[in-house]
Amino acid sequence: MSQNAPPRYVHLETFGCQMNEYDSELVRSLLKRDGYEFTEDRERADVILMNTCAIRENAHNKIYFELGELKAIKKQRSLVVGVLGCMAQNLKDELTKSQPLVDILAGPDAYRRLPMLISDALQSQERGLHRKGLAVDLSEYETYDDVLPERNDGVNAWIAVMRGCDNFCSFCVVPYTRGRERSRDPEGIVREAEQIVAQGFKQITLLGQNVNSYRSGNWDFARLITAVADVPGIERVRFTSPHPKDFPPALLEAVADHPHICKHIHLPLQAGSDRILDLMNRTYTAREYRALVDRIRSMRPDIVLTTDIICGFSSETDAEFDETRRLLENLRFHAAYIFKYSERKHTIAARKFPDDVSEATKTERVTQLFDLQRRISLERNREYLGMTVPVLVDGDAKRSSSQAKGKTDGNITVVWDKTELSSAPGALLPLSIYDASASTLYAHRSQ
Ligand code: SAM
Ligand code: SF4
Repeated sequence: MSQNAPPRYVHLETFGCQMNEYDSELVRSLLKRDGYEFTEDRERADVILMNTCAIRENAHNKIYFELGELKAIKKQRSLVVGVLGCMAQNLKDELTKSQPLVDILAGPDAYRRLPMLISDALQSQERGLHRKGLAVDLSEYETYDDVLPERNDGVNAWIAVMRGCDNFCSFCVVPYTRGRERSRDPEGIVREAEQIVAQGFKQITLLGQNVNSYRSGNWDFARLITAVADVPGIERVRFTSPHPKDFPPALLEAVADHPHICKHIHLPLQAGSDRILDLMNRTYTAREYRALVDRIRSMRPDIVLTTDIICGFSSETDAEFDETRRLLENLRFHAAYIFKYSERKHTIAARKFPDDVSEATKTERVTQLFDLQRRISLERNREYLGMTVPVLVDGDAKRSSSQAKGKTDGNITVVWDKTELSSAPGALLPLSIYDASASTLYAHRSQ
């Protein structure tokens, strides 16, 4: 942007996973460098950007709904609308044809080109032209290593240590929207962790679509997470999302033993039937997955394990669904994210396996698992009753500003009355748990 021009205001909305939140921090940094200002207020914005998710159909529907709302604003005044991220990458043809209101499409590897795309779009509008700017090439190298994300103040800072995914699970669109797997240089990551701690953040979450397959020279993920957790002053280090196939003993030992690595592993299972796991190309059997859970729990019985499940994948029978239900019952995760299978364009499943489980059956299966998991989560959370646990304070509770909330080391939400104890975000407090629901622990000040 030219130095004497008045500032242009950008409103950026983020949908989807933590990786998208992180990418929005990169986008803010890249645009601020170029002189753009950010506003929370849509009405004030010259440019509205939506950083999108393509993982399931409902993520798409949300964006189409938002675009509908922007149409009304754009009728009244000049406005540049950009769709960023996975949906831009995956649906470029559909979005350019069916959404005349979209001026810019930029995929996850093209954010460096955004300043230029926005300035072209603004100039083109001023001249009464409506040219579209497209940047949707995937890169084998882009890791934004040199871009320091513009982080919001808070307790947690994310660092994406790798991007993309080479696993090609047959249901998943990520390898097509985010491209091939590539890892950042470890020294740069550790330096960034040091800066983050110096800025006052207490927790770092290492991110990647397949985070534990991180590799750079002779650094693997176990070495990387240990180096980050060794940074003086860091309280907690988390990571997401790992794949069950990449848990060598050194990584399990690091999680089990390092005092600053949180005792929580999110371990996506997806299904309990070997035939379905094979169709999904998950590369493990139910028995191998269970053996991994046993190994982790034998090293650290207090660890919190959570998972992801997909119901109603192509050709899943009642008996196969029942294998998933029994495994979930048996493994007793602290929490599970349960999804209906949603066919995604371009994936192996969309090309090879029909989406032939009815919507009603998918709903019925999700509901069954949801009810089962609620009961297990409640039982698991009740195990904390009477215990005193260290809680990292986040801020006000969602429901009431007279309550505060924080997280246990195992990532379980804890809520307490501020009259009991008022403390700034980032403090680590010992709290004693007196009640539990399936999703939350309730605490008093510890005596
Ligand atoms: N990389 C992680 C892994 O391999 O387990 C998962 C990342 S993905 C963004 C998060 C979760 O979304 C997956 O674990 C899966 O349960 C779910 N998911 C992905 N594609 C899906 C689809 N097509 N339909 C329903 N759920 C899906
Ligand atoms: Fe998608 Fe995760 Fe499989 Fe990669 S490992 S293809 S991100 S589900």
